[in-house]
Amino acid sequence: MAEITERITGHTELIGLIAYPIRHSKSPTMHNEAFMKLGLDYAYLCFEVDNSTLEQTVKGFRAMKVRGWNVSMPNKTVIGQYLDKLTPAAELCGAVNTVVNDNGVLTGTITDGTGMMRALKESGVDPIGKKMTIAGAGGAATAIEIQAALDGVAEISIFNRKDEFWARAEQNVKNINEKTNYKATLYDLADHEALRREIADSYIFMNATGVGMKPLEGQMVIPDETYLRPDLIVADTVYMPRETKLLETARKVGCAKAINGEGMMLFQGAAAFKLWTGQDMPIDHIKDVLDIQF
Ligand code: NAD
Repeated sequence: MAEITERITGHTELIGLIAYPIRHSKSPTMHNEAFMKLGLDYAYLCFEVDNSTLEQTVKGFRAMKVRGWNVSMPNKTVIGQYLDKLTPAAELCGAVNTVVNDNGVLTGTITDGTGMMRALKESGVDPIGKKMTIAGAGGAATAIEIQAALDGVAEISIFNRKDEFWARAEQNVKNINEKTNYKATLYDLADHEALRREIADSYIFMNATGVGMKPLEGQMVIPDETYLRPDLIVADTVYMPRETKLLETARKVGCAKAINGEGMMLFQGAAAFKLWTGQDMPIDHIKDVLDIQF
């Protein structure tokens, strides 16, 4: 307890995370550990906020001059209307996971896509100017697809089921083709011939669907291992389990790299941390604390 009273004083500034539900989040551990390691006078707390109280929450944070906060579901796709500015990525994704308060001006951004792009870079993977095939059109997939196009991934083939996310997949393709300099094409995930062909000439294949995590643990978005090849990079947004069936299969086939979602989780946090504090998150320390292996 003494540690808390020494650390939290009248000067300590608040940084938050709003979502519902949110109590399971690892973000407080990540950010508070990083604040302590660097001697920064902030505290990070979670707040259960649903969309019925979102506007009041933003007004309250603004009035209290809170430095910034993270946003997760269901607030992520709704909060933009209550902020002053959106970054191009947040605008194109239609979602915000980080808010920064610069002297009363609230800017919404999204760091999930930059998180995955940095995770790739830190793993020695450089998709810029190359072709990516990606499965998914939900929150994680949209952030990655948009960021990949903004960063310069030359061609993106997007596969999704014809489910409630199909319209979002169409919107993502339209945004990339009309608002970035790069090209995207949408395919039905059930079109196995197209899936095989698109993966075959891609530098990287990524799963950004929920397939591979509970309740779909032990399953993968591709029909079988013949869709992979040894010089392909394979990445997964799933981080629980750490080794999905897709990544296990990629290792079995001898793929060049098999990268899990822990790096995306870590670096989306590091990007938000940098925006709030101006400092680099102490990555090795946080990897140790959260037992992150990517
Ligand atoms: P979401 O609900 O927004 O999107 C779900 C996506 O999965 C859609 O594209 C949907 O069509 C697809 N899908 C669902 N069931 C499917 C099935 N049986 N077969 C094929 N496709 C199916 O979810 P999200 O927030 O985008 O999360 C997607 C995945 O990304 C999850 O596994 C989640 O854990 C992971 N994720 C990781 C991070 C990270 O930081 N690493 C962050 C967010 C999400």
